[in-house]
Amino acid sequence: MVRTRIAPSPTGFPHIGTIYQALFDFAFARKHLGKFIIRIEDTDRNRLVPGAEEKIYEALDWFGLTEDESPRKKNGKGPYRQSERLPIYKKHALELIEKKQAYYCFCTKERLKEVRTMMQAKRQIPMYDKHCRNLSEEKIQEETAAKKPWVIRLKVPENEKIRVIDGIRGKIDFDSNTIDDQVLLKSDGFPTYHLAVVVDDHLMEITHAVRGEEWISSFPKHVLLYRYFGWNMPAYFHTPLLRNPDKSKLSKRHGHTNVEWYQQQGFLPEAILNFLALLGWSHPEEKEIFSMTEFIRLTDLKDLKPIAPTFDLPKLEWMNGEYIRNTENSKLKNQIFQFLQKKYPENTIEKTVPLIKERIKKLSDYLPLCLFFFGQPNKYDIDLSPKKEIFRHTTDALEKVQTWKADAIGAAMQETAKKIGVKNSEYFMVLRVAITGKKISPPLNESMEILGKEECVNRLKKF
Ligand code: GLU
Repeated sequence: MVRTRIAPSPTGFPHIGTIYQALFDFAFARKHLGKFIIRIEDTDRNRLVPGAEEKIYEALDWFGLTEDESPRKKNGKGPYRQSERLPIYKKHALELIEKKQAYYCFCTKERLKEVRTMMQAKRQIPMYDKHCRNLSEEKIQEETAAKKPWVIRLKVPENEKIRVIDGIRGKIDFDSNTIDDQVLLKSDGFPTYHLAVVVDDHLMEITHAVRGEEWISSFPKHVLLYRYFGWNMPAYFHTPLLRNPDKSKLSKRHGHTNVEWYQQQGFLPEAILNFLALLGWSHPEEKEIFSMTEFIRLTDLKDLKPIAPTFDLPKLEWMNGEYIRNTENSKLKNQIFQFLQKKYPENTIEKTVPLIKERIKKLSDYLPLCLFFFGQPNKYDIDLSPKKEIFRHTTDALEKVQTWKADAIGAAMQETAKKIGVKNSEYFMVLRVAITGKKISPPLNESMEILGKEECVNRLKKF
């Protein structure tokens, strides 16, 4: 059975890159009627942020990428929080010690720092100098009896070619002499990523793992671990980093990585997913807009592309606009109502939706365009004081309108413009500003119908 997973670290806000990977994992698992799993990688105790784990779930739920197994679901092959699996890692690290494929290292921080400085001075890649790799049994006994802190390191073979197979790029060969004797278990009893990812992906029976390309350089260490444990490997797919249009890495400082930012901007989850899908993959018919169901049907992890995808925000905005236009009015009304935290009357929003659906790209565009429906404007794009004549005649005409409908309102205003001899363009611009505060607004007649006769007349009488 296909089992995919994301393994986020709860070290801050949910990252859009995590959603990107989750999307491919989720779709692939759904396509093969498999399971999508969340494992929380909380072994870096210094970087933990309280509440970050809950935010990850909230974000995934918002996107509809809800997992089958995770710490919150308490099912499957957990525990799924790495901090709750420490004995498992220790047991496996000791197994490698036993088989002489790993070793105790008692080097102090100071010594390691010296080694690093020396290597850098010689322009070598800083690596552990294998000082403790061949300690005698007696020496090890002696050091442990003296309660010296230790770590467990991986014994990387010398002079060997280590071949890794990335699901996206194919074969990559590494020279084992360039691979560090990686720490597997730290002195505080916590595993490093490298031990944990291998042990967990194996025990959780993961078949396919999508992770960032920053892990490719560590991949040979993982391959060695699988070999030492005698386990089959899942397929690993290393996705390229998301980049800004100027090719810089999408990061906190460049671009927007925080999922909440996209929510606050009023992007729809479906639109973001559609956009993310196209960052690493293309639709066989070159379609730009497609549903999740269609994506699940067509996607395959092996079709992921190794080229760094460009995170083109204007394209996301365009796509979001398309999704808004294709949303049913009542659903869009609900989305806007929720987005505005239920602070504006739902029935007014409902009436305005047909007027603005074609004009907004994000839910956050709604309020600036529609604020005048919820109260008189408090500023006006042009000075209206010299236009008293226009308002006086228009008020008279509007008061006489019997059925307050867009057509009748429009006709009354047309007539007034003609009667007082003001050009249509000038006349309607003035009226628009008086009613909405702005030179650009949703269609005026329809807006006035929604506002009601009394309100419109009051807005004009003000001048
Ligand atoms: N915790 C790792 C990260 O956030 C997970 C990498 C992986 O998916 O294996 O980068």
